[in-house]
This record gives sequence, structure tokens and C-alpha cells, in this order.
Amino acid sequence: QLEGLAQGVAGQARGMAGTLRVVAHLMWLTEYSGQEQAHIAHGSPPASLHRGIELRGVTFAYPGAATPTLRDINLTLPAGSVIALVGENGAGKSTLVKLLCGLYPPTAGEILIDGQRLTDIAPDAWRTRVTAVFQDAVRYKLPVTDAVGIGLLDDRQDIQAVHAALHRVDAERMIDSLPRGLETRLGKGFAGAVDLSGGQWQRLALARSAMRRDPLLRVLDEPTSAIDPESEVALVRQYTRGDIQGSANGVTVLITHRLSSVHLADLIVVLDNGRIAEVGAQQDLIEGSGIFAELFDLQTAAYRTGEPG
Ligand code: ADP
Repeated sequence: QLEGLAQGVAGQARGMAGTLRVVAHLMWLTEYSGQEQAHIAHGSPPASLHRGIELRGVTFAYPGAATPTLRDINLTLPAGSVIALVGENGAGKSTLVKLLCGLYPPTAGEILIDGQRLTDIAPDAWRTRVTAVFQDAVRYKLPVTDAVGIGLLDDRQDIQAVHAALHRVDAERMIDSLPRGLETRLGKGFAGAVDLSGGQWQRLALARSAMRRDPLLRVLDEPTSAIDPESEVALVRQYTRGDIQGSANGVTVLITHRLSSVHLADLIVVLDNGRIAEVGAQQDLIEGSGIFAELFDLQTAAYRTGEPG
């Protein structure tokens, strides 16, 4: 219902700057519905990152859970870096990024944004500086322009930003081939509407994320699972290394099961049963005999012999 509400309001709100914060908030509720455990704080996030994001002794148990999902995480995510977060299903990867997004406060320990406690920053102010794309991104059944710019478009001039965002995720040709281009209504059940494939919806979600100016944190939680590995690498490289990183020197956290994408990261963090098992550069971890090497064994063998992973 929230999704419908957000889409309805977005349809009305295009061009009404005052309403956009409301739309952005509804979007947040849509995409994280029921997950949030809000905290009250009034601090502002920094304009840009100098040191990075630091987790100090972070332990986290979901409300009502008997055992913690994350245990004593100590980790520095340097400003401007790309971090690959890997580990088996259930290791706690998504939970860790939810904490970074501010959806839940840690049960113990703290998350520091350039030294400032995340729990001292106003949640809605932090949200404006965070962008997250998940595997099952919301499919906004709107004209393309609005589906990409929802919550951010303040006037028609921003159409340039929509073009730039589509370009960054290599989706321009896909949109050009639609019957009414950017004005094409997406989804099913509307006259003239066009439904997209899973991979196309994922590209669109990435384009929406690329609209965000100067994020301090970008999260990509398996957002390209429906896209083939080679296209994924090109896409993620362009997304993380392109000019979109802006001047805020933000941190990008990428969760992926594909070694080919892990190669793009400056630092690899391996989670195992809620704890950090390994941290390092990919070459060191591949050459080691730890969880990373095991997890990516087959893919690693292909990598060593120079075949695409
Ligand atoms: P990963 O992303 O590495 O697959 P998750 O962070 O999704 O791991 O999950 C880690 C653990 O936390 C799992 O055991 C999962 O069942 C549990 N979990 C995830 N979400 C919730 C939730 N909302 N409430 C309670 N437990 C959860």
C-alpha cells in the first residue's frame, strides 16, 4: 500500500519542491517498510568524508532475537573506497549494511562517520546522504523520468540529470527503444505501459541511485543479480568509478557473489556467522587459504588461469 501511495504522491508532486521531501520519505518507507527502528537525534552529517566510516565493537541483535546477528565488528571503511562484502547466506552482510544505512542502531558499540556517532545524526538527514540498491528494488510503475527521478526531480531541467544517470548505467539505448522514450509508462496494467525484464528494472534502480548527488554512503546489495556477469562488471565499474562518486568522497559497499565484481573493490571484508573472518586486498585473500579462497574456489581457479570469473 505504501508503494502505491508513494507512486501516487510522486505522480502529483513532480515540480513541487516542498512535497519532494515527503515523497523521499514515503520512498524510504516503501523500500524499508517495517524494518526501521528509528532513533532520535538532531546532528547533521558532514559535507564530505575525510577519514571514512568506522565500526567500533559493533554487536547487533534483531529486536526479540535471542542471539546477535553481528558480533564485535571492528572495521574502517576509508573515505572514497569501494568495499566488497562477501560471505555465505545468513552471514550478516545485509544486516551490516542496514546498520550503516541507519535503519537500526547497534546493540553495542558504535558507527562513526568521520568520528561523529551515527546515532547523533538525524535519521532523515543521514538518509539524504545514503543511497542503497537491493536485489529486489522497488519497481516504480511510473513514466521513466519519474521512475528514475522519484523523490529527487525538482523541475523539468533535471531531465539532464536523468539522462546522465541513464548514461552511467548504460541504459540509454534501452530507454530510446521504448515507444515513448522517457515518457513511456512502465509496468503492467496501464494503457501503453511497457514492462521491463528483471535486469532492466535493476538497471533503472541503479540509475535512480546514480541521481543522488554527493552521497556519503552507497550500498549495492546484489543489485545486478539478473544481469550477466560481464555486463555487471562494466556496470559496477562505471557506477563506482565514474564521475558520480562526486566530491563527497563517499564509501561504496558492494555485496556480490561474483568474483569478477569483487575485483573492483579496494578492500574485501569476509563475514562469517556475524563476525569478520578476513579483511584484505583480493590478491592476498585469493592466495591465502581462508574462507575467501574457499568461497570463491571455482571462480578463483578460473581467475588464476586467466579465464573470466
Ligand atoms: P546475509 O545478507 O549475509 O545473507 P543477513 O544479514 O540477511 O545475511 O541475515 C543474517 C541473519 O539475520 C540470518 O540468520 C537472518 O535470518 C537474520 N535476520 C535477517 N533479517 C532479520 C530480521 N528482520 N529479524 C530477525 N532476524 C533477521
